Amino acid sequence: MTESGPRLLLGAPIATEMRARVKVEMAAFRRRHGFVPTLAVVFVGRDAPSAVYLQQILRSCRNAGAVGRLVHLPAGETAAHLRREIELLNADPLVSGIIVQMPLPKRIPLSVVIDAIDPAKDIDGLHPRNFGLLALGYEGFLPATAQAAVEILKRSGIALEGQHAVVVGRSNVVGKPAALLLLREHCTVTVCHSRTVDLGAHTRAADIVVVAAGRPGLITGTMLKPGAVVVDVGINMVAEGIVGDVDLASASAVVSAISPVPGGVGPITNAILLQHLLRAARAQVEGTPDRRLRRPPTRPPAASTPRPS
Ligand code: NAP
Repeated sequence: MTESGPRLLLGAPIATEMRARVKVEMAAFRRRHGFVPTLAVVFVGRDAPSAVYLQQILRSCRNAGAVGRLVHLPAGETAAHLRREIELLNADPLVSGIIVQMPLPKRIPLSVVIDAIDPAKDIDGLHPRNFGLLALGYEGFLPATAQAAVEILKRSGIALEGQHAVVVGRSNVVGKPAALLLLREHCTVTVCHSRTVDLGAHTRAADIVVVAAGRPGLITGTMLKPGAVVVDVGINMVAEGIVGDVDLASASAVVSAISPVPGGVGPITNAILLQHLLRAARAQVEGTPDRRLRRPPTRPPAASTPRPS
């Protein structure tokens, strides 16, 4: 931290660069194939934060030269109808990517989406095929928010290798994949959740803390190590507006860098979805189903790492 406070890890400049690149590549795709990819966003019910987020995604699609199609189903919709809608989108050749906005109404289990969605169009990495590829270290579609949480660290030049990272949250869409991605970056990873005993003892030991719990103010300055780097993934609507899971005021007195909410991870998540949409479209049109079982290159450990003799 400097006298003026910690470094703010801002998502907007990173996302702007990513989106500009996607826009150029989207135009090239259109010239080559004669159509623009469509992202179908399925939304069941009425959830105010989701609605705001969806409008952002649809606007990002338009700005990038893609089509964003909202498939809005009423709150009382049945699981069978949701499945049918997803199957129709799977079969639509103009639809290259599908995301289903969470949370679903409690009546509809997530398994309905997971069982129905075509893994080649599953650009938010929900399907077991994509999650399995991630777990095994291959290149499937990664869950965009988890990827964004790690991307903001990498693109901000934060060293990850050998660092102790604590992830707070173990959901399949954010916490768990973020932990796997940090492991891939050679962090030593601890995953905490609602049954963790003495959360602060874990977070205080961390060089990097990624928080995705959906609990405003869960992490305070006294729970953080001086100089730690914090990525706040939480999005919570409170009386004052949108806040993350980290108490920014107390954390700012301790940490060296922190991603704000709003303005941190969110914009990058959006840009990553566009990247995934383009990649899915290419794979579908060019007849190369996105099954690249390609492992990221592994590097030897840094020279300073002590080795057993
Ligand atoms: P989720 O499915 O509700 O999972 C929350 C996780 O946090 C669970 O693993 C839960 O533990 C853990 N948790 C809850 N209370 C805790 C506590 N007091 N101490 C420690 N762990 C606790 O939520 P999610 O979908 O992962 O989303 C997490 C947050 O990220 C939400 O605020 C969501 O709005 C936000 N989000 C942001 C973006 C973005 O683009 N920035 C995108 C998606 C989601 P258990 O497993 O034990 O229940």
